[in-house]
Amino acid sequence: MKVAIIGGGPAGAAAAMTLAKAGVETYLIEKDLNGDKPCGGGIPSGSLKEFDIPDYLFERKVTKVGIVAPSGYEVIAEVKNGYVGMVDRMKFDPWLREKAVESGARLIEGVFTGFSQKELTPPPPLFSKEGKIEINFKQGEKEDSIEVDAVIAADGVNSAVAKQIGAERPQVYLTVQEKVELTGETQKLYEDRCEFWYGADISPNFYGWVFPKGSFATIGTGAPYGYGKFMDDYMAAFKKRLGVRFDGAKILKRQAFPLPMGPIKKKVYGNVLLVGDAAGTVMPVSGEGIYYGIMSGKMAAEAVIKGDVASYDREWKRVYGSQFRLMSLLCRWFYKDDKWRERLVRMHDDKDAQERSLALWLEKEKKYPIYSIYGKIVKSLLKHL
Ligand SMILES: Cc1cc2nc3c(=O)[nH]c(=O)nc-3n(C[C@H](O)[C@H](O)[C@H](O)COP(=O)(O)OP(=O)(O)OC[C@H]3O[C@@H](n4cnc5c(N)ncnc54)[C@H](O)[C@@H]3O)c2cc1C
Repeated sequence: MKVAIIGGGPAGAAAAMTLAKAGVETYLIEKDLNGDKPCGGGIPSGSLKEFDIPDYLFERKVTKVGIVAPSGYEVIAEVKNGYVGMVDRMKFDPWLREKAVESGARLIEGVFTGFSQKELTPPPPLFSKEGKIEINFKQGEKEDSIEVDAVIAADGVNSAVAKQIGAERPQVYLTVQEKVELTGETQKLYEDRCEFWYGADISPNFYGWVFPKGSFATIGTGAPYGYGKFMDDYMAAFKKRLGVRFDGAKILKRQAFPLPMGPIKKKVYGNVLLVGDAAGTVMPVSGEGIYYGIMSGKMAAEAVIKGDVASYDREWKRVYGSQFRLMSLLCRWFYKDDKWRERLVRMHDDKDAQERSLALWLEKEKKYPIYSIYGKIVKSLLKHL
């Protein structure tokens, strides 16, 4: 059995690792081994236990989460029994790819350019002669191709694979992020804390974030694609709200990048399976995509190993369906206007609601049943009406 994975980000690397460990001949094709994926790099400690991420990959581990309301009212939530790990994607992604290689995957630096077949659906029988898929890629000027039994598309939000097979596309936000040098008092302030800032001035449907790393912090904001032309204004407003903290701080990099928000329904097209950002597996409200990308990569790989690609869509729905549905519902509620944003922040004064809302983000092994978490959140929210 031979499988090609297009894209060596977290989703692709996780898929490659899973397949290679199961003895599948695995090709991981990544266009840029030195890429720097625009990302806040925040990973909750509970989420990636199975990967045993070494300490040196965490630029910082923070245990305090600052949540700031439009009025400036701030709640600082304490993370108990864990932390939010801050990784630099320039180091994290190569480490994940290295893990895949150690498991037996072959890593190719190349750009996927297309399939030879015009028609990939309906699916021919998996692992049969007629089920072979020829994929083409370029290494520099050199063109090459391989024939495989299945393809995992992990080539991110602008997925060329998805475009070629005419796959459903997720809703997309635009983000602007700066890597800003951390010095002096600001360095001290963010020693053990990250922050989420809310307000219509910062984003109509998202938040502004400050995620500290070693010597720099990533600060940014996002908004649905249609608001793209206002991104500079949102970023300027955010910096204004941050006040003197980053005044005059050196901007090391400024990046603008799309962020999908919520998964597509159909992630399997013939023997091509879409994972991670290519499938939109980013959690609404929080924008968390690394964990869900990794889990989707793993799930898709397991479906291929089983020889039942369609089970990937079913399994995804079973494990994450209700959580994603509820979060998109909350997204409409929380981001309706500044009154609601204020309530979203103030409800975190309630320790129970705070614990459950942090659990939702930080602990992926469900300590509380999902409906009890939402029940508690809604109850605390209603107190602020
Ligand atoms: C500004 C910003 C901040 C974010 N902050 C966070 C955060 O703090 N925490 C969090 O959990 N998530 C965050 N996210 C989301 C997170 O970055 C993504 O959800 C995650 O990277 C998805 O992983 P992926 O492997 O699916 O895609 P990607 O990480 O995008 O990887 C796709 C890979 O495919 C490669 N590729 C693309 N096209 C081709 C091709 N044609 N041929 C070969 N290779 C190709 C790319 O080079 C890339 O390496 C953030 C996103 C943005 C934009």
